[in-house]
Amino acid sequence: YTAKRNTTVTQLYDAALDSSSTQTLSLLSELRHAVQNHELRVFLQPKISLKTGEVVAAEALVRWQHPTRGLIPPMAFIPFAEQTGFIRQITLWVFDEVARQWDSLQPAAPRGQPLRVAINLSTRDLMDPDFPAKLAVLLATHGASSASFCLEITESAIMDDPLRAETTLNQLSELGFKLSIDDFGTGYSSLAYLKRLPVDELKIDKSFVMGMGNDPDDGKIVRSTIDLAHNLGLNVVAEGVETAAAWELLRELSCDEAQGYHMGKPMPVAEFPAWRERWLQRYETENLS
Ligand code: C2E
Ligand code: MG
Ligand code: MG
Ligand code: MG
Repeated sequence: YTAKRNTTVTQLYDAALDSSSTQTLSLLSELRHAVQNHELRVFLQPKISLKTGEVVAAEALVRWQHPTRGLIPPMAFIPFAEQTGFIRQITLWVFDEVARQWDSLQPAAPRGQPLRVAINLSTRDLMDPDFPAKLAVLLATHGASSASFCLEITESAIMDDPLRAETTLNQLSELGFKLSIDDFGTGYSSLAYLKRLPVDELKIDKSFVMGMGNDPDDGKIVRSTIDLAHNLGLNVVAEGVETAAAWELLRELSCDEAQGYHMGKPMPVAEFPAWRERWLQRYETENLS
């Protein structure tokens, strides 16, 4: 009990880095408890069309609402969950939550196209040969359509075992899921390899987007990633859009979508519909001026 009460977010990090830690087992059981006791939360962050201002998608980002430690950010427990393999249960839990609530997230007719929701996958999901079938079961359970989902995968998750990843990604694509490469530019994937994958979208890592105002090199990376994506026929999204200046520059560079604090931070699912209404009003106002 004492150990449990004293565990801080920092200790969660430490345990994640040291898999032989004596805390590992207790943390794993805490995380299992978190799922069983409904302590995990899905937050949604909007992805917005730079051309029309429409809210075209939302990324599901998990948080841990801990009874005593408060809201724990994903970086404090996702690395640990990945190391222990427990991430696979978290992925399925997030997917199930979103599929269950998908109807309630759709804009009231006649306004707007259906909202796509992006789910983050881990390398562990890609290595599980049954993963595509598990998603198909959850879709059927909720009567949801694969086309309403985008699956975000980092380059490093793919490069852990490229052949295995390719098999899984092909199956997910055949099921109708959209696929996105997350944090693009930070991993070690080869473009020759990415070209073979059934990818629909590149997400430019926020470090480049946040840096492009100050560092000319970041600006060049953003610009050439947008061109690369378009030359390959891919949708391109910038994450980490924190300022009106970044929004404007990305629009000039013909980037397709933007995600970031300037438009909206990750928020509880229940707050999303009202946020969208406020955003549309704000967009109209700012566009007129
Ligand atoms: P990510 O998938 O690259 O998600 C984007 C992260 O950037 C989110 O952090 C988001 O809140 C943050 N972000 C978005 N716009 C801005 C901005 O304008 N400024 C700044 N400073 N940050 C911005 P978050 O929610 O803390 O998630 C961090 C990472 O944790 C995610 O990075 C993802 O790798 C992982 N993660 C979160 N949820 C899940 C999940 O359900 N499954 C898996 N496997 N990983 C997850
Ligand atoms: Mg992501
Ligand atoms: Mg990202
Ligand atoms: Mg990231």
